Amino acid sequence: MKAKDISRDLIKAIDRLNSYKKMEDVEKNLDNFHNPISELITPEWYYSDCFRVLDNIEISWKNLGESDLIRTLGDVLERALIREGLAGIEFERSFCSWYQSYHYLPREKWGIHMRYDSLVRIASLFYHHCPSTVDRKLDSAKSAFLYLFSHELFHHIIENATSILEIVSGKSNLYVRYYTDVYSQVFNSSDCIEETLSNVYLFQCADKCRIDRDFLKQELLKQGPGYCQFIQYVDSNFPEGNRILLSQIRQGRLKPTTYDPIEQVVDVPDPFQYSAFHNIPIWVHHKAKPVH
Ligand SMILES: [Zn+2]
Repeated sequence: MKAKDISRDLIKAIDRLNSYKKMEDVEKNLDNFHNPISELITPEWYYSDCFRVLDNIEISWKNLGESDLIRTLGDVLERALIREGLAGIEFERSFCSWYQSYHYLPREKWGIHMRYDSLVRIASLFYHHCPSTVDRKLDSAKSAFLYLFSHELFHHIIENATSILEIVSGKSNLYVRYYTDVYSQVFNSSDCIEETLSNVYLFQCADKCRIDRDFLKQELLKQGPGYCQFIQYVDSNFPEGNRILLSQIRQGRLKPTTYDPIEQVVDVPDPFQYSAFHNIPIWVHHKAKPVH
């Protein structure tokens, strides 16, 4: 086993668990295996062309500076116009970025997805207003990437934690059941604790992402329902939030009957450390695809 292959090994284990399902059944009923919410909220982006970036490159502050994506971003951001009010950088809610799970098929595009114009916009915001990156093009571009990456990475961390629960319990449907019965039902509401905790994770990683903590705090507090509640679960409250989420996943219901101490399966090192052990595909979208 190579360190970088942990996500691949988890996917293989999930497939073994599902081996009673014949692949031809899956192919015949592919619609039942599609990720329901990414298609629902972002069809024009979900189906748009994208290309893979930073493939097999360890994500680090130094390595980011050498990537073509980040360098190009640094070059264009000075000219980018940003709206006043600075709203519209709320991940899935603003269609800036999303995470496509490997539990759904087809799996070719699983991973973290980002829109290029959103990256430009966030980098421009950081360049003009974030005290830790102001007037520094390349740093603003790197921090903008890490802003989207860290939030979306937490969704992947949670999927991996769920895979571990599935493997240990022998129950292959925990993720899909939770996604359908809990996450999709409460997305965009204050009950969506997965979005809350994704922002907690980003906030906890602020120093690593070189995003000024107070600036980030104020930006995240302006975000929509679910996202802006992050402040309730920062620091020592983070494990409690993870316990609630993992209990929802394990029981497939918004209000679990018990909250068992299973949050330890949520592995939360900083994004650089995590990506050193997990080769997570990252996709960038340039242009929406007309769907109507
Ligand atoms: Zn999210």
